[in-house]
Amino acid sequence: MAGLEGQVALVTGGSRGIGRAVVLALGGLGAKVIINYRENRIEAEVTLERLRASGGDGEVYPFDVAVESQVEAAVKKIVDRHNKIDILINNAGVTSDSLLVRLKHEDLDRVLGVNLIGTAYCTKAACKGMIRQRYGRIINLTSVVGQTGNAGQSIYAASKSGIIGFTKSMARELAARGITVNAVAPGYIQTEMTAGLASRLQEEFLRAIPLARFGTCEEVAEAVSFLAGPGAAYVTGQVISVNGGLYM
Ligand code: NAP
Repeated sequence: MAGLEGQVALVTGGSRGIGRAVVLALGGLGAKVIINYRENRIEAEVTLERLRASGGDGEVYPFDVAVESQVEAAVKKIVDRHNKIDILINNAGVTSDSLLVRLKHEDLDRVLGVNLIGTAYCTKAACKGMIRQRYGRIINLTSVVGQTGNAGQSIYAASKSGIIGFTKSMARELAARGITVNAVAPGYIQTEMTAGLASRLQEEFLRAIPLARFGTCEEVAEAVSFLAGPGAAYVTGQVISVNGGLYM
């Protein structure tokens, strides 16, 4: 895989989990990586330390992807400092796992607000500069449950299905400007997000995975790195599944 030297990448939710692995992978390929987080500064600083320890370079930027004014201010600051954003990874995500009848209005707003609307806000803010430079890579984290649905995850799954429709639409909107837009759909990956799933659900997933194990954050970061790199220049509007065969 060729390098990303000279490129600037913004990874939302880069402080932990899959986002941290993506930060390290893109940094390892030579990109300068902007690590966004919402509240967990300590974990974001740990990610930055690991990035620097592995020879990479970057900065941490706190902002809430669900608040458009914060997204716009942050993107402006990044572009003022680094001149551009070449790669946007819309990774920040939250869950609220419960039967629909038990979900509160605030849960619906938060999950859709962060996962789907946050992805739209970050894309809208970052793509303006990409359009001007006629180059960009946008990669959105969806989920296997956005492809299959899952009882107890209706709003989370809806937000992730929405990301697939958003990805395909933006791929069409931005193709003529040299910008590719793709999605990565992880299956069951071991992170803090999935550690919170009921053990009954964890066992059910494991039984259904042909490769008979959960995935790692690094395995998801490999797919993201491919889509961010020059080898994926002719790939747009696609959903790449990293799920051990859970959904084919
Ligand atoms: P995670 O470990 O829970 O980390 C979530 C990240 O998102 C953190 O960096 C968090 O920042 C950030 N974040 C949350 N709300 C935010 C907001 N409003 N603004 C900015 N940042 C925010 O999650 P993960 O498991 O790595 O998942 C990453 C992505 O992959 C998500 O989109 C998730 O839906 C998707 N995914 C995960 C799995 C899986 O098995 N883990 C499967 C399919 C899809 P703080 O540290 O500041 O809280």
